[in-house]
Amino acid sequence: MPTSALIALAHPGIADAVELLAKNGSFSALTVFRGTERLVVFNDTATAGRQAADITHEAAHGLLLHEPTTAIDELGCRAWDDRVEAEATHLGACLLIPARGVRYWAKVGKGIDEIAQHFGTSIELARWRYNINGGRRIAASSSRR
Ligand SMILES: [Zn+2]
Repeated sequence: MPTSALIALAHPGIADAVELLAKNGSFSALTVFRGTERLVVFNDTATAGRQAADITHEAAHGLLLHEPTTAIDELGCRAWDDRVEAEATHLGACLLIPARGVRYWAKVGKGIDEIAQHFGTSIELARWRYNINGGRRIAASSSRR
């Protein structure tokens, strides 16, 4: 049974929303709310690193207690709040690659590719976490010793 059919059984109407988002080429993941239950629906055709980022992004929305909103507005457009999305993206990235982890790996001379592989993320996410946590400075400082 296709995943979309399983989702439709569990949450009527969600399969239509996912299909619409997928047609726009923008579907990565979303959280479905039903009472106190939350169901994360994600694009399992994405790379493993992307799926990890998408799932932790959705988990971050929950941890940050972001209010549920509609994914599609009344005009059929993607509903989007830049501030809320940036918060979830940042926390999701921190959950996947903690600052302390980046600093450790940089200190022992590991590069961005190795950090991405270790934490199971994309190269882009590892680069972001490496740069924002001073990875290059730490690696340079450690190599001079
Ligand atoms: Zn989001």
